[in-house]
Amino acid sequence: MKRQPFSVDVNEKTIGTEMKISAAVFHQSMHLETDLLEPLGHECPICGSIDRKPLCLLQCTPDVVLLDCAVCHAASASRMPTDRALEAYYAKYYESPLFSDSANRTTFDGTSRFGRHLARVYRQHQRDLHISILDIGGGDGAISHAVAVELLKKGASKVDISVVDYNEDVILPQDSRITISRKATLEEISSRHNFIIASAIIEHIPKPCHILDSCFNLLEKGGIFYARTPYMVPIMKLCGHFGIKLDLTYPAHVHDLGQKFWESYFNGKLSRGTFRTLRSRPSIVETSFREHFLKTLAAYSLKSPWYLIGRSYKLVGGWEIFAQKS
Ligand SMILES: [Zn+2]
Repeated sequence: MKRQPFSVDVNEKTIGTEMKISAAVFHQSMHLETDLLEPLGHECPICGSIDRKPLCLLQCTPDVVLLDCAVCHAASASRMPTDRALEAYYAKYYESPLFSDSANRTTFDGTSRFGRHLARVYRQHQRDLHISILDIGGGDGAISHAVAVELLKKGASKVDISVVDYNEDVILPQDSRITISRKATLEEISSRHNFIIASAIIEHIPKPCHILDSCFNLLEKGGIFYARTPYMVPIMKLCGHFGIKLDLTYPAHVHDLGQKFWESYFNGKLSRGTFRTLRSRPSIVETSFREHFLKTLAAYSLKSPWYLIGRSYKLVGGWEIFAQKS
């Protein structure tokens, strides 16, 4: 059954006797025909291993399967969307009613709350006065601007933000000590930065290794890299036992990356250069009680047990990591 691709006000629907729930508030899945799909990829798009096991079906006819890599622990789609498919998807994404005003062009309800969170962790490890932020896939720059505002409160004297995003509109800085510039691609950035933010972006990129390597090259020594990604596979498996199909929102999300992936990544197996993991834990809840009450309540309820049980508990829905380049 094909779904209406951009009916953004619908996040839960029943299909036949099977309940289907969207895993993300901010994206919707879209069925792709063969001409919009890359050929079947046998190798993991992140580490190149062929040791991958099927986890679940992302779409039927043509079939796209989510595969679990035994080497790097990434879960990735067996067939990636073509560039043309992604261009069409995101063109519609930014035209959708949800993104009709600039305040909504980030996948986070409370940007100030997120800004405080990122600035607090950054400041625990870095005391520099002039800070440059590189915000990958940062939309209109609202999140990095919120980080900058908090960094100024915490003693920074100047914050320069570079946003890399196809979205052409960036917000106007609210403080003369903040600058924001935008580039369409990472290749247009040459200077090094103190803080690189890759929030809710890696899961969208079919082959993210090149982007990650470029990010690490653009990070100053001592600089901090932050990533936030969905980690839905354990919840999808559990829901599957009860006949509930969780929608990964393919082709928006083509990877699912959790604790094991990120920690092994920064333990040197995949990242180039030397990194020290500063903080690795369930991601900050992206929705707010005011905007999405039930989803927010569910997110807090699911993430909380991890703090008691630790890494053996996996039903957290998303992961975040701060790593420092040494
Ligand atoms: Zn892999």
